[in-house]
Amino acid sequence: MEHHEVLIVGAGNAGISLAAKLLRDGIHDVAVVAPQPVHRYKPLLNYVAAGEARMADLERPTEDVVPDGCEWIRDSVEAVDPAAMTVTTRSGRTLHCSTLVLCPGLTEDWDATPGLQAAYADGWIASPYVPGSTPTVWPRLTALRGGSVVFTVPPEPASCAPTALKPLLMACDHWRRAGVLDELEVRLVLPGRTGTGVPQADDVLEQAFTDYGVEVLRESRIESVDADAHALTVASSTGRQVLEDVAFAHAVPHYRAPRWIADGGLATGGSSLVDVDPGTLRSRRYESVWAIGDAADVATRPSGGALRKQVAVLSKNLDAARRGKPLQRYDGYTVMPITVSRRKLALNEVDRDNRPSPSVPFLDPFVPRRWQWLFDRYGLPQVYWRRILRGRV
Ligand SMILES: Cc1cc2nc3c(=O)[nH]c(=O)nc-3n(C[C@H](O)[C@H](O)[C@H](O)COP(=O)(O)OP(=O)(O)OC[C@H]3O[C@@H](n4cnc5c(N)ncnc54)[C@H](O)[C@@H]3O)c2cc1C
Repeated sequence: MEHHEVLIVGAGNAGISLAAKLLRDGIHDVAVVAPQPVHRYKPLLNYVAAGEARMADLERPTEDVVPDGCEWIRDSVEAVDPAAMTVTTRSGRTLHCSTLVLCPGLTEDWDATPGLQAAYADGWIASPYVPGSTPTVWPRLTALRGGSVVFTVPPEPASCAPTALKPLLMACDHWRRAGVLDELEVRLVLPGRTGTGVPQADDVLEQAFTDYGVEVLRESRIESVDADAHALTVASSTGRQVLEDVAFAHAVPHYRAPRWIADGGLATGGSSLVDVDPGTLRSRRYESVWAIGDAADVATRPSGGALRKQVAVLSKNLDAARRGKPLQRYDGYTVMPITVSRRKLALNEVDRDNRPSPSVPFLDPFVPRRWQWLFDRYGLPQVYWRRILRGRV
């Protein structure tokens, strides 16, 4: 049976940056299993949806980002047996390992919203979260001269969900400059009471919603979609309403982790995510199984920024576990970069308890600034390709 010292499932932000870091740390036998031929720097999807980037800016062939010395197994995991330390792939291979790290990210739960997938196929709905539709978002938004437009933020688990507000607020700024904002009925469907759940960040966002005249439907989610009638049914704790004659909807699907995680007995009760100790990132049930990234239940909002810290802690902990030394703990650091206009962005960096956790010491992470917008759009992608994916952060 094929064996690897460290087997990583997933070649996204988590899998590739961890593989690169472990190789740098001197582990020789690292393999990554992942099916997709293209690697995406996902934060730029929001800028494509806001007319500020192209898909070519965020896509690279996976073979170009898999680090030298790492074996890329071009296959998809379909089952995991944590007691035997094996995974089974779609092509029927069984892979054995000493250490298993799960980072398969999240997958769309189309069944959660009847009609939504058909509406994406129809082109009436599009969003940055469904990459095939992303390049159509900005042309559709900027073509609007009146009528009703709806945006949603997906409920958790979702990948850096509050950043789904970026296209909304950049579009509002555009519509105001174009003189059509007053002709539009702009509605936002939020899963929670507020945009982020972090009071300082929410104060800034609420001010922006009021300023642009956005009607906010709180503690609500899209229950079903009627693509033929261009109508969305929104359910909330207080009832149900149908939004009719919607010209365009930026409705994000709901998400879940792959089902083989729960089938393998690795999920948190009641959720699809991998049940790990949120501090050490180790499975609570199987000591050679670990998880990071969007599919790991680390009791904080998932983000690429969070992975910088998770990869650092996990690489140290794999080494400490081998030597029988104490494990380090991840403090839940995460980031929710949100634009409040076409050119200003707040980083919103917090720890697990929502305490400010700025990467630049003493900088208030809730204040929108122009240089932060420029850094998020132009600086961070360079840091991602050159340093984060190469295990240098
Ligand atoms: C639209 C959008 C905007 C975002 N904006 C920001 C932002 O501004 N700032 C920020 O910090 N974060 C942002 N994020 C979040 C960030 O991109 C994610 O947190 C990060 O990509 C998670 O990395 P991951 O490796 O866990 O998952 P992913 O990047 O999703 O990678 C998962 C990998 O697993 C593979 N896989 C899936 N199933 C299997 C299987 N069965 N077998 C093998 N491989 C499998 C996939 O093919 C993929 O390679 C954004 C995300 C999105 C979607």
